[in-house]
Amino acid sequence: MNRNPLRIIGRIAIVIIVVALIASVAVDRRMKKEYARFELIPTSAVNAEIVAIWNRIVNYYLVKTPSGWIAIDSGGDPGHSRKEFAAIGFDPSLVRAVFLTHSDSDHARGVTLFPNAKVFVSEREKDIATGKVNRAFVFKNSLAVEPVWLSDGEAVLVDGRRVQIVEAPGHTPGSAAYIVDGKYLFTGDAFAIQDGRIDPFNEFFTMDQARANESVYRLASLKGLSLVLTGHYGVSDKPDALFAEFLSRPITPAR
Ligand SMILES: [Zn+2]
Repeated sequence: MNRNPLRIIGRIAIVIIVVALIASVAVDRRMKKEYARFELIPTSAVNAEIVAIWNRIVNYYLVKTPSGWIAIDSGGDPGHSRKEFAAIGFDPSLVRAVFLTHSDSDHARGVTLFPNAKVFVSEREKDIATGKVNRAFVFKNSLAVEPVWLSDGEAVLVDGRRVQIVEAPGHTPGSAAYIVDGKYLFTGDAFAIQDGRIDPFNEFFTMDQARANESVYRLASLKGLSLVLTGHYGVSDKPDALFAEFLSRPITPAR
């Protein structure tokens, strides 16, 4: 019998390291496949009062107010955002408020870009956003600032603009959309838009698909909108047609 405990421990460690490496390569490949589905738009004016910012794998949006701006989400790479801001001559200190659709890092890590902004998040995101509940496996979300927690339907007036939160849980428990001035709907990761149709958002990133599907119905029943602006699938200027087509489909189980 030649059982050197150190040798056995060493072999176990090698097996664990190899399994972890294989798993991380597989997850990385899967993430890239999911990212390839996204349809992002470049940093550009959406209309006379909204600017889309491209931030690597995500879009977020700036809405003009009489004396500054509101941001809907904040991107995940502040350094990249600073370059985009410089290219269009945008001053982030003029942002008065940031409304986060949820706490995932690609939407929330950029809040530090806006030193003069209050940050708003759905109160139902609290456990995920503060790391009390894990986002996926052992991974936790976090927020760099203490936000104002909003309840469903609550409206905030920022420098003359009315921003109302509409809960749209599923992607995360506190995922939410925002309606600005009754006409612009910012959906975060509530759904995808592809070929002019609503599709489920990437299931790989979704915590509760059944709830996410219910949330699409909730949002698609909103009326009087002129724009729908997503986190990863661009903008639709035909919300009524988009929602009518979705609601006309026979109800089928989640894919
Ligand atoms: Zn996202």
